[in-house]
Amino acid sequence: LDAHFAPLLGVDGDINGVITVLHDITDIRRLEKMRSEFVANVSHELKTPVTSVKGFAETLLDGAMYDEKLCRSFLQIIYDESDRLHRLIADILHLSKIEQHQLPLHPEIINIVDVINETVETLQEEVSKKDIDIKLPDTKELYMEAEKDRIRQIILNLVANAITYTPEHGMIEINVEEKASDVKLIVKDTGIGIAEKDLPRIFERFYRVDKARSRNSGGTGLGLAIVKHLVESHRGVIEVESQEGKGTQFTITLPKKQS
Ligand code: ADP
Repeated sequence: LDAHFAPLLGVDGDINGVITVLHDITDIRRLEKMRSEFVANVSHELKTPVTSVKGFAETLLDGAMYDEKLCRSFLQIIYDESDRLHRLIADILHLSKIEQHQLPLHPEIINIVDVINETVETLQEEVSKKDIDIKLPDTKELYMEAEKDRIRQIILNLVANAITYTPEHGMIEINVEEKASDVKLIVKDTGIGIAEKDLPRIFERFYRVDKARSRNSGGTGLGLAIVKHLVESHRGVIEVESQEGKGTQFTITLPKKQS
């Protein structure tokens, strides 16, 4: 609690009483704490690729550049780390924009099945590489009011995760269900699953069950935080069920109409 006191003066200037104003600042404190944790996390996440880029550039300048093979492999690392940095910055900016409500929703009538098919198409290379069997919705069309780019981003992040955390020859199933006033989008995989203790935390920014695995697959730890925001910007909800070693299912419920 934050307390302010002010004397209550009478006509003669005597103090007749005291006005006390009490503010509950626990929310403000909590926000401040979250913000400073976020800044610390961001700094840490940015530092890792920058340190690596700097180190490898230094080694190249110190003479490694004259060895063609070494030069090529170090440049590849520098390229990959810069790419990671780029994605990280894009994700951080994206998240902070949504969080500041700077981005009003621009809903239009979309066929969510088309958006699913188009998005999965862009991930085809990774799917083939791991020989993953992707099952798309049986339905050809399901119309709803939503912002196409945001729906695309939601699907992209969920399916990309499903691919990352599913071993070779696994299966991913994407489905849509039409309810009276909602649309359900389901992304299910036969991957490594998530332990019960980690489940409540996976939507937090930078939370990763296995940091090394996430990093190796190009993860930023922000994907699900962004998904949650995008879902909530449509007044939707996201739920997750998972069993370690068996697989994970994300279910998103979105209202059919935004107005
Ligand atoms: P990342 O960039 O690390 O994938 P996300 O925010 O997208 O970050 O996900 C947070 C964490 O949740 C991941 O690091 C991973 O541990 C876990 N996770 C997300 N999706 C899945 C999935 N389909 N199967 C298993 N674990 C998952």
